[in-house]
Amino acid sequence: MDSSSSIEGEVLFGISTIYTVQAGGTRLQCRIKGKKLKEPSRSYNPIAPGDRVQVIPDPQNPGAGMIASVLPRTTRLVRWNKKGRAPQMLAANADIAVCVTTSDAPPFRPRFIDRLIVAAEAGGLTPMVLLNKCDLPCPQEVAERLEHYGRMGYAVLRCSSRTGHGVSAFADRVRGRTAVLVGQSGVGKTSLLNALAPGLDLRVGELSQKHNRGNHTTNFSMLLQAPASLRIVDTPGVRELELAYVLPDEVGFHFREFTEHARSCAYQPCLHDDEPGCAVAAAVERGEIHPDRYESYLRILQELRETTPMWQREER
Ligand code: GDP
Ligand code: ZN
Repeated sequence: MDSSSSIEGEVLFGISTIYTVQAGGTRLQCRIKGKKLKEPSRSYNPIAPGDRVQVIPDPQNPGAGMIASVLPRTTRLVRWNKKGRAPQMLAANADIAVCVTTSDAPPFRPRFIDRLIVAAEAGGLTPMVLLNKCDLPCPQEVAERLEHYGRMGYAVLRCSSRTGHGVSAFADRVRGRTAVLVGQSGVGKTSLLNALAPGLDLRVGELSQKHNRGNHTTNFSMLLQAPASLRIVDTPGVRELELAYVLPDEVGFHFREFTEHARSCAYQPCLHDDEPGCAVAAAVERGEIHPDRYESYLRILQELRETTPMWQREER
């Protein structure tokens, strides 16, 4: 194939083998050229929204093309797709991973936030917490946990897609960068998208219909480009965010409050599990590390011990 006829584009979304690519001012429906691209990793999806690709437009079929290659990624947000038993790339080349959460309906899940922080940082993105539905009462313990994330240095924002409160502050925060919205279904991601960019409403609906991406059946991400430099990746609503491409001994680095203690662990390196003389476990005992954060850490560690062998042999 004549590579001089290829153009660079950006993947907006795609399901299994057909990807919608924005290239040269138009949208092309693209297949992956050859098997080469699909083979190197056994991932759920070889290409994700935000991927930069080389596309060869089909001269016979306007609006269609072939993806010849994927350019190197700067960041990646990945989850372990339990059903598919493979890593699933939620977004490529994005900057910020926004954990959309609620105080009560659905219940506040700090474990979910902790996982997203690990997935984001391990993939090179900056994590952020966004409490939606702030028009509803916020229980004291939720407010305290949010403050705790803030004290650790994570950005914590509050908004209501219903009243509009805080929505433009959030937009200002992510403008000009690519933000991935991650959250369990029901936290109000769809409502938030509509509040962010009312013009997006129709397009989201259209795409949903076209791809049978109705409520609660969404299982792929989508890059949405809204006016005023808003670039948002909407991801499938997930109940659990299981990790992939993070090694067990890396997890501790993404629990940033562990760091100052970890230096004093008797064993180096220490997984802060049941090693004697673990300074992290001691700090939990003394109340210097939140016990729920430590519990999150141990669960992630345990889970990765089980899943790591399944993806480790792949190209990382
Ligand atoms: P998604 O599953 O994350 O896309 O959530 P939806 O956008 O479909 O919203 C789930 C439910 O929460 C709907 O009944 C919304 O009307 C409601 N909802 C969304 N945002 C807000 C909000 O800011 N405040 C309140 N009170 N309800 C909201
Ligand atoms: Zn330790």
